[in-house]
Amino acid sequence: MVKKWVYLFEEVEQVEKYAGSWEGVRGLLGGKGSGLADMTRAGVPVPPGFTVTTEACNEFRKTGNFPAGQWDQELAALKVVEKKTGKKFGDPTKPLLVSCRSGAKFSMPGMMNTILNIGLNDQVVDGLAKLTGNPRFAWDSYRRLVEMFGTTVFNLEDEVFEQPLAEYKASKGYKLDTEMTAEDWKALVGTFKKVYKMHVGSDFPQDVTKQLELATKAVFESWMGKKAIDYRKATNISDDLGTAVNIVTMVFGNMGDDSGTGVAFTRNPSTGDRKMMGEYLLNAQGEDVVAGIRNADPIEHLVIHMPEVYKQFMDITAKLEKHYKDVQDVEFTIERGKLWMLQTRNAKRTAKSAIKIAVDMVNEGLISKEDAVQRVSTENVDTLLHPQFDDKALKDAEKNGTYLAKGVNASPGAAVGQIYFDADKAEKMSKQEKQDTIMVRPFTKPDDVHGMIASKGVVTSEGGATSHAAVVARQFGIPCVVGATAVQIDLEKRVMVIGDRTIKEGEWISVDGTTGKVYAGKIPTSAASIEEQTELLTLLNWADEIAARPDIRIMPTGEKNRGLMVWANADYPKDARRARSYGAVGIGLCRTEHMFFETERLPIVQRMILAETPEIRKTALDELLPSQRKDFDGLFDAMNGYPVIIRLIDPPLHEFMPDEEKLFEEVVTMRALKQTEGLKEKEHLLAAIKGMHESNPMMGLRGVRLSIYMPQIVEMQVRAIFEAAADCTLRGIVVKPEIMIPLTGTVNELEWIQPRLERIGKTVMGEKKVNFHYKFGTMIEIPRAAVTASELAARAEFFSFGTNDLTQMTFGYSRDDAERNFLITYVAEGILPKNPFQTLDRGGVGKLMQMAINDGRKTRPELEVGICGEHGGDPESIEWCHMIGNNYVSCSPFRVPIARLAAAHSALKYSGQKIVEDK
Ligand code: PEP
Ligand code: MG
Repeated sequence: MVKKWVYLFEEVEQVEKYAGSWEGVRGLLGGKGSGLADMTRAGVPVPPGFTVTTEACNEFRKTGNFPAGQWDQELAALKVVEKKTGKKFGDPTKPLLVSCRSGAKFSMPGMMNTILNIGLNDQVVDGLAKLTGNPRFAWDSYRRLVEMFGTTVFNLEDEVFEQPLAEYKASKGYKLDTEMTAEDWKALVGTFKKVYKMHVGSDFPQDVTKQLELATKAVFESWMGKKAIDYRKATNISDDLGTAVNIVTMVFGNMGDDSGTGVAFTRNPSTGDRKMMGEYLLNAQGEDVVAGIRNADPIEHLVIHMPEVYKQFMDITAKLEKHYKDVQDVEFTIERGKLWMLQTRNAKRTAKSAIKIAVDMVNEGLISKEDAVQRVSTENVDTLLHPQFDDKALKDAEKNGTYLAKGVNASPGAAVGQIYFDADKAEKMSKQEKQDTIMVRPFTKPDDVHGMIASKGVVTSEGGATSHAAVVARQFGIPCVVGATAVQIDLEKRVMVIGDRTIKEGEWISVDGTTGKVYAGKIPTSAASIEEQTELLTLLNWADEIAARPDIRIMPTGEKNRGLMVWANADYPKDARRARSYGAVGIGLCRTEHMFFETERLPIVQRMILAETPEIRKTALDELLPSQRKDFDGLFDAMNGYPVIIRLIDPPLHEFMPDEEKLFEEVVTMRALKQTEGLKEKEHLLAAIKGMHESNPMMGLRGVRLSIYMPQIVEMQVRAIFEAAADCTLRGIVVKPEIMIPLTGTVNELEWIQPRLERIGKTVMGEKKVNFHYKFGTMIEIPRAAVTASELAARAEFFSFGTNDLTQMTFGYSRDDAERNFLITYVAEGILPKNPFQTLDRGGVGKLMQMAINDGRKTRPELEVGICGEHGGDPESIEWCHMIGNNYVSCSPFRVPIARLAAAHSALKYSGQKIVEDK
């Protein structure tokens, strides 16, 4: 039996049987062919037609001829189409015209051939003119066919036809094609046919079946055209797939006032409103709507012009939405009162409408909650939560030269404000002068935080995605661009210079933290708050439900487990409250040292550090204790019933001290001016700071090392935590404190410090006569900690991956410097696939995490594991955390909604699968 190379649109079931799956159907009929067939099956009026398969194309490519049976099958299919349409191919009295369209499995827009109006010749054109009463349209269609035939079937240059057209118009004094009359087009067809013969060597074929045969061949050949091959190379589409050829009846919307054409969306793609949005034109062709030559009517007016057609159109589009379970973007034509659907596809949409549509469709029973959660991307959520620049204004800014520089997109959102070059001034102008400020610095340090918080946005010329500025900005949801290396900041002159442009302090700039771009002047923005976004809240609740299903993951022991929880990094009670309102169910990291930087506390902290005797140190610490206790009390209160992980002091002490260089300058100046008052104290302070100097402070006296070296600080902190927890418990608040020891490298460190701290905890509970559950655990930030996790877990009741430091230490890249120089090059050159400070490096850092979880749980099966580095808010990194068995991810409160959705995406993607164990 001869193989079947040609399928009518209505034969889709047969194709499915042969191809085995819808994927197979798409492979055989191509995207367009399978879509047309699917619509036909759904009962949608599609212009009749058929598809020649990709298998035929592949045979043709081997031999240069149609495979045996193909052409006969095409002619037979054409007969069926004639019968269905009541028209006849090549018959001037009721002409059937067809288009011959390429269509591969994957869309290759504009890369292959399409020929329209096949079936026109010298007789048929007259018939069409009479039939439509529109000779201009008939002759224009004919000249298009001759032209398309020449250029696509015989590869003639466009010029060959464009030149005589241009000359003709010039001779008539026309500027536009629209000025051409029927007579003009008729005259031009004569010219085109001559040109055709001259270049091709034969007459334009008057035999319409010959036209179809040549057109089919030309589409097959266009698969191996240079354009198509280059496109496939660039998009990784295999040359072996081949293209299908779709032969589709031409329908015309310009056959009088009972004809028309239009485009529509089944719901509003910008707001998501459940209301058809579209336009149409009576007596017009498809291009007329797109070209906007005539003003189109809104789709609802069709009910006046053609009530029957309108009703049918609304029924069909509703059916299409049901069939595809998504908003459709449709093209249609009405030919003499008969509606034809030419195309339907899932509509592109804004973030806002994506969420609204997904939620509405669940409520309408059209899709499941899982579908809805899967359809909304984390980028959609990100977009909705941050003020955005107006799209058009942004494009204008790119054009009109206000674009200044690009850096790392450290914290998303749009900010507009006046620039200030230091934290004090930024805070003052914001608080006292009520200005919108942008803080611009080479980089930031902990003592700049007050200026950042007071500002609408932050720009630094140095640093990367885990630099201080980036971490703090994300934590507070401040739009931030870091490492904008083209910006040169002159702190003396109070200006920033970008190329030949100078921007002075107090001038306005606009910062796009989403793209990392900085602009001069003010660009308009629009804002959003989570409380107002009811659909988003609904969707996120569904996401939580999905991640919380008890059988999402199978643990290595075979036990079933839920997916990831989302906690937040929060230092202050107000951050914790925000974290709760964004849906966090725990605090994964409270960086206690941030509390030490508050203006009234810093002098006490400095006094404590400089203390020469234990007694003086104790006095300073006693002074700090009440404020720390108050901080923790506020946190427990905000997180009533949820766990709160408090990290003991982590940074090196010099970070709390005045800047050494600045102090040195002051001392030298005082000495030169012979100012003695206060000089001794300054000299003493300078000597102390010098004494603290370390070559590699990030690898120096910090974290647990500092706790062991100077235990009084953490002893005070633990007392403050337990006193606050006890007070809260007495007030009826449910507390779940977890004390976290940072930067551990050996279990011996925990052995040394943890029992002392536990004793303090017990003492406080005894003093206050209360009991509550608490945990002691550690951060895994040093590769050695990951490697010796089984030992650490003997002491630690929980692990939290500090992946900022763990990435720094695993790669040996400085987190403060790498992103401003070689790391960007590494990513650009493909040496690294992504910036490892933004997206977890699964092969290295991720593997260490995997090993630590495995080994840790061997010692302590119930070990609680989380992540609190910046990766905790990155969807790709969250997926890895799900796969390796983390219990939770912790990120900035502003990223919590994104993380909730990412956790659900991972839960659905790997639902019921086993944790990926380290081998
Ligand atoms: C980390 O290292 O990932 C971490 C959370 O700690 P920090 O950023 O405070 O060093
Ligand atoms: Mg760290």
